[in-house]
Amino acid sequence: MKIGLKKKDWILILIILCVAGLTVLIHTYIGGSGANKVVVKVDGVIQGTYSLSEDGKIRINDGTNVLEISNGKADMIEADCPDQLCVNQRAVSRNHENIICLPNKVVVEVESSEESEYDAVTN
Ligand SMILES: [Zn+2]
Repeated sequence: MKIGLKKKDWILILIILCVAGLTVLIHTYIGGSGANKVVVKVDGVIQGTYSLSEDGKIRINDGTNVLEISNGKADMIEADCPDQLCVNQRAVSRNHENIICLPNKVVVEVESSEESEYDAVTN
């Protein structure tokens, strides 16, 4: 009887571990790629919000700027501004990273609903 109980205990522990592991995996998957999004603003007005998990090209401000989303990152690939600083900026993917095009008043900022809570605590 004692051995039987121990086996049951181990099975229970294994089930708990599996569930815990799955929860972490699901959380990592959703938090890592699904939750992040980019907010596109022109002159302080939100033009749209796009998920970083969906690849695509976004024309901003009637095409003065073109943002590309691929592999969970957002990158400004085209702009008609004279300085081209926004195009030269590296791709953004993490919470609060942004790409700014001053001449065209375009701001692209990464937002993560999950991480913002964490930031609120640490800040
Ligand atoms: Zn620019």
